[in-house]
Amino acid sequence: METSVEDAYATGAMVRAEEWQAVISAGDGAAAALNVLSKEKGEHYHDFDVPADATELFGSLVDAE
Ligand SMILES: Cc1cc2nc3c(=O)[nH]c(=O)nc-3n(C[C@H](O)[C@H](O)[C@H](O)COP(=O)(O)OP(=O)(O)OC[C@H]3O[C@@H](n4cnc5c(N)ncnc54)[C@H](O)[C@@H]3O)c2cc1C
Repeated sequence: METSVEDAYATGAMVRAEEWQAVISAGDGAAAALNVLSKEKGEHYHDFDVPADATELFGSLVDAE
């Protein structure tokens, strides 16, 4: 979602020639927001909680916090 303009992201209808659905635009916005947060934090960011034993159950792909 990043553009050639620093810190400017483009989402939704303006960048999709054919997938014109409101939910796709909303999803694009959510993905761009995670991109921004990851960039700010300097590491991949996700905004959901996981159970404390998730790593034990599902492996290291899930980082329990
Ligand atoms: C006739 C029609 C029917 C549709 N029906 C459906 C449907 O049934 N279901 C569905 O899911 N999707 C439907 N869509 C598609 C859906 O409307 C779009 O996918 C969605 O609105 C795109 O959202 P967006 O935020 O990317 O862009 P937009 O909703 O187009 O929002 C862009 C906003 O930016 C503003 N803007 C533009 N230029 C500037 C500027 N220079 N400065 C400031 N603001 C600016 C505009 O005024 C607008 O408010 C339909 C689209 C059309 C045209």
